[in-house]
Amino acid sequence: MQSLSSRTAAFTDSVIRRMTRICLQCGAVNLSQGFPDFDPPQEILDRLAEVAKEGPHQYSVTWGAQNFREALADKQTHFMGRTIDPNSEIVTTCGSTEAMMAAVMTVTDPGDKIVVFSPFYENYGADAILSGAEPIYVPLHPPAFSFDPEELEDAFRQHPKALILCNPSNPCGKVFTRDELLTIAALAEKYDVYVITDEVYEHLVYAPHRHTYFATLPGMWERTLSCSSLSKTYSITGWRLGYIIAPAPIIERAKKVHDFLTVGAAAPLQEAVIPGLRFGDEYYQGLLATYTEKRKLMLDGLTALGIPHNEPEGAYYILLDISRYGWDDDYQFCEQLAQRVGVGAVPGSSFFKEPENRYIRLHFAKKNETLTAALDRLASMDAKMKR
Ligand code: GLN
Repeated sequence: MQSLSSRTAAFTDSVIRRMTRICLQCGAVNLSQGFPDFDPPQEILDRLAEVAKEGPHQYSVTWGAQNFREALADKQTHFMGRTIDPNSEIVTTCGSTEAMMAAVMTVTDPGDKIVVFSPFYENYGADAILSGAEPIYVPLHPPAFSFDPEELEDAFRQHPKALILCNPSNPCGKVFTRDELLTIAALAEKYDVYVITDEVYEHLVYAPHRHTYFATLPGMWERTLSCSSLSKTYSITGWRLGYIIAPAPIIERAKKVHDFLTVGAAAPLQEAVIPGLRFGDEYYQGLLATYTEKRKLMLDGLTALGIPHNEPEGAYYILLDISRYGWDDDYQFCEQLAQRVGVGAVPGSSFFKEPENRYIRLHFAKKNETLTAALDRLASMDAKMKR
């Protein structure tokens, strides 16, 4: 038999999703893979029940149902402060996972280079490999996870085709300041580089930090593919609804890539989420208030336990510094943490290009009682995990 593709030979399974399986096996409170254990808004669930009876149950238009795109365009026009055309500037995808894959394939040819900040969400590496592009990693330096503009320009000097920007950032919780984004924008302009954003946590930015949509910076609309999803905003990670927003000539191509990748996102789910897309500002304020409380609960709890951690500015992840436990393999640490302590975390090394193993990632998109149960268990971490 001939060998399977060399392109995918180096793939491991996703460490994030593997940790979920380990948690299920040993009954650990799963703070690894980021998804909520609470319900989506009732209006969306009510509409889902109606849609079950009324349909649609067949394909939507491949780039998204008309009414879904119109509702999404209205929402994003409101938040981005720029009129988005539902017909020519949006393609609906199966989650932001497909949005990012389709965006990378829309922009790059095999052999092209893509700039990726490290630490990074693990799918970006796979997106690059599947499209034959080569990542150039630029470090975000802890503890603030800021980049060195010189290091970034060195990457641009290698003539990349695109840069991937996850803002707010998974896993480090960084929210790029407007000045930092302007530095990236100036380089994108100078070296003629596309910017592919992952903005799935756009509504989870904690005061005093503010989210700036990269596409809204001067001159950046033309070269930005803004990817996002409804997963985190409406607590529907299993519905797999995402999108790319970009100028018409880019979307025209992205629609074709998307069509051949997946044909379309689930038609009944596009229909059912429309009441959510029509929510007013108070919904997003409420969402942020809920997550602000969860963030505080976890940060205060970890501080009280004396576990060193970062303070995320956005998204819903916290990095814990585990160096004092004396392990040299953070993956083994997470396996043992799930088994001995009963809490699931993701090893930091799965996000870093640099040889880094002093972090583990917890998320706080869980009911307060789940978070409290996890903190109760983490109280035994010193006794059970010190080497
Ligand atoms: N974005 C989430 C995380 O980082 C979920 C990833 C996934 O499994 N799709 O945990």
